[in-house]
Amino acid sequence: MDFGSNAEEIAFAEEVRAFLRDNPPGAFPEDGMDAGYGSGPASRAFLRALGGRGWLSMTWPPKWGGQGRPMRDRLILLEELAAAGAPFGPLAGSDQTAESIIRHGSDRLRRELLPRIARGEVIFWQGFSEPNAGSDLLALKTRAERDGDHWVLSGHKIWSSHAGIADFGLVLARTDPAARRARGLSMLVVDNGAPGVDIRPIRSLTGKVYHYQVFLDGVRVPADYVLGQPGEGFAQLLRGLDQDRFWGRFYKAPAMARILAGLVHHANTTTRDGAPLARDREVRRRLARLATEIEVLRLLFHRVGWMIERGLPVAAESAVAKVMADETGQRLMALGMDLLGPYAPLLEGSPWARLGGAIQHQYQASMGHTIAGGTSEILRTTIAVRGLGLPPEPRATG
Ligand SMILES: Cc1cc2nc3c(=O)[nH]c(=O)nc-3n(C[C@H](O)[C@H](O)[C@H](O)COP(=O)(O)OP(=O)(O)OC[C@H]3O[C@@H](n4cnc5c(N)ncnc54)[C@H](O)[C@@H]3O)c2cc1C
Repeated sequence: MDFGSNAEEIAFAEEVRAFLRDNPPGAFPEDGMDAGYGSGPASRAFLRALGGRGWLSMTWPPKWGGQGRPMRDRLILLEELAAAGAPFGPLAGSDQTAESIIRHGSDRLRRELLPRIARGEVIFWQGFSEPNAGSDLLALKTRAERDGDHWVLSGHKIWSSHAGIADFGLVLARTDPAARRARGLSMLVVDNGAPGVDIRPIRSLTGKVYHYQVFLDGVRVPADYVLGQPGEGFAQLLRGLDQDRFWGRFYKAPAMARILAGLVHHANTTTRDGAPLARDREVRRRLARLATEIEVLRLLFHRVGWMIERGLPVAAESAVAKVMADETGQRLMALGMDLLGPYAPLLEGSPWARLGGAIQHQYQASMGHTIAGGTSEILRTTIAVRGLGLPPEPRATG
C-alpha cells in the first residue's frame, strides 16, 4: 500500500486546516463533554459548520445526497479535526448511523433523516448494552411487539453515550422471542422525544456526564423506522462492528500526537529538583516510546482503512488496532500524570493547572476506553480466533 498523499488529498487537508483557522474550535459552544477519544467535546454548532461545507455526507452515494468522494477524504477530515482538538464528538455515531440507514433503511427513513444528518442537525446514540447484557449482548431483554404499523418498545439500556444530548437512538431489541437468540433481534431508530423515552445521566469517574441510562416504556416506533427486515438486527450489528471499531478509534493517533506534543513542551519548559525535566533519562525514554507507539498506531489504522476501502475483512485487524489504540492511550495519560507531578490532579479551570487541566480528565476517561466498543479481553479472543485461527473458547458451564 501507498502511505503517500496525492495532490487532491494534500489540497483537501489544507482546505480543512484553513477552515479550522477561520473557525477556531474553541469558539464553538460545547454541548457535551470530551470523552477522551480525541474527538474533543460535543458541539452541535461545530457539526452544523462541518455540514455546511458538505463534509458530513461527502462519501455517501450521490443518490442519497452525497458526493461519492473516496473514503480517504473522510480519513483526512478526521485526522485534521483530531490534530486541532476540534469538538466533533458525536460525529462517529452519526457517520455509523448514516451508513446503516443508507444500507438498510426504508425510503422514508432515508428521506427523513439523511438530509438532517448531512446538515449536522441530528445526533445519535447507540442502545446496545443493558445492565445484564454487555459482552454477552445476546442476553439483552429489551423487546418490541408489533402493533399495526408500529412496534411497541420496552426495556432498559445502559452506558448509552451522548443519549442525553442526542435526538435519536439506534436501539437493538428482541422482536421475535420465539426465534433463536441471534435471529430474533432488530435495530430500531428511536426518537428521543417519543412518549415513553426516559433518559437519565450517569456521572462518570471524571465527575462529568457522558453516559446515560435509557428507560423505554411502551415507546411507539413506526414500522419503517426498523432497519432492514425484522430479525436482521444482530447480523447488521456484526457486519458493522469491525468497521465501527476502526472509525471509533481512527482519530486517536493524531489526537495522541497532539497531547504528546503538549507533554514534550511541558518537559522542555519545566524543572524538577533543579534539573530540566527534558534531561531526565526516564522521561526521555518514556516520551520516545510513546512517540513510537503513536506512529505505529497511525500506520496501523491507515492499513486497516486501506483494507476497508477494498472491501477486505478486518475483524482481527480492527480488533488489533482498537486494543492497541486504547491501551496506548492509557499509557500516554499515565505518563502525562507522572510528568505533571503535583500539578496533575488540578482540574480544568484551575489557574495553576498545566495543559489546561486536560490530562487528569483524559487519564480518567481513558479507563473506560478498553471497555467501550468491546473489551480488550473479548477483542483478544477475536484476534486469537479470527486472526490466529485458534479454536473458540469453550462455553462456561455450571
Ligand atoms: C466509555 C464507554 C462508552 C460506552 N458506550 C456505549 C454506547 O454508546 N452504547 C452501548 O450500547 N454501550 C456502551 N458501552 C457499554 C460497553 O459496550 C460495555 O460496557 C461492554 O461491552 C462490556 O459489557 P459489560 O459492561 O456488561 O461488562 P461484562 O460483559 O459483564 O464484562 C465484565 C468483565 O468480564 C470480562 N469478560 C466478559 N466475558 C468474557 C469472556 N467471554 N472472556 C473473557 N473475559 C470476559 C470483560 O472483558 C470485562 O472485563 C460503553 C462503555 C464504556 C465504558
